[in-house]
Amino acid sequence: MDGRTPGRGSRYIDPGVHRRFDRRMTVFHRRAVYTGFDSYSQERFDPADPELLELAEARAAWLLHDNYPGGFRDSIVGDCRLVHGRPPFRFRFHSPEEAASNARDVAERFGASLTGFTAVDSRWLYSRERSGTPVELPEEAKWAVVMAVEMDRDLMSTSPSLRAAAESGRGYSRMASLAGAMGEYLRLLGYYARSCGNDTSLSIPLAVDAGLGIMGRNGLLLTSEFGPRVRLCKVFTDLQLVQSVSEYPEPEEICSGCTVCAEACEAGALSRDDRPCWDTLTGSNNPGVLRWPFDPEKCFDYWLKIGRDCSNCIAACPAVARIGSLQKS
Ligand code: SF4
Ligand code: SF4
Repeated sequence: MDGRTPGRGSRYIDPGVHRRFDRRMTVFHRRAVYTGFDSYSQERFDPADPELLELAEARAAWLLHDNYPGGFRDSIVGDCRLVHGRPPFRFRFHSPEEAASNARDVAERFGASLTGFTAVDSRWLYSRERSGTPVELPEEAKWAVVMAVEMDRDLMSTSPSLRAAAESGRGYSRMASLAGAMGEYLRLLGYYARSCGNDTSLSIPLAVDAGLGIMGRNGLLLTSEFGPRVRLCKVFTDLQLVQSVSEYPEPEEICSGCTVCAEACEAGALSRDDRPCWDTLTGSNNPGVLRWPFDPEKCFDYWLKIGRDCSNCIAACPAVARIGSLQKS
């Protein structure tokens, strides 16, 4: 960390066991490679399907995420790229505080619902991407702008409907727009910037480090503003920023004594244990992380069964109220 303070996320790992996670171990990748399931989404539409309109909306919602090459790359492909190489100057902010304040304001205008900053802890970087390519950041990319995009509460409350699935897809497309534009902004000022969605690094520990929330029983980031009803993206940069401070209670204070998400999970994928532990359930879990056990295989099997993604553990979660009552006390 070069003298920079490790973020809060490092409290929840056993450094003797934990290793950078290989993204090829995610359930999405392993299922695609080993069983041929590459999608839970229906690709051929039946005009007689009573859900045709909802299905079309749910697929269309992913358009920007799936097709915008500027969204999640450090160098934008093709003509849409504004900055080829580095500009011949570098804009100088008066201080890291001014840079952070500006970055927060700009991120908000690009669509961020929450923004935090953290020194990069390289333990959160994937060891390899799904393509097998080793993940490395340039030495100078020491900071991350971590951003959350809110998803609509009313739409998400209909999970596991196609309306909720469409809102999830819109969340991913908003991530692409936000991360791409934020990275381009920093590059135009002469800084290195790599725009990322779920690629390059785990997003939740980075968001915990950036003070945006804490990981809950449902394996998601719990925020005081929106609970887990957010999507995350980030930009790695060499612009010096200021470490955000986490004011969140410990995960046990929020989730011990609450099993609402586990009860809402039709797949039985979430633990009802009172306390987090070091157990892993499947190859998709990274050893050496203190958390409530989560079985992504059961979760994904349920998605395959219903033919869409599920957000029951997002919709049901009362984290906003639980965090709010703890922060007041
Ligand atoms: S997304 Fe649905 S199936 Fe997966 S853990 Fe959450 S509630 Fe369970
Ligand atoms: S539903 Fe309850 S236990 Fe589950 S993540 Fe939310 S607050 Fe934690």
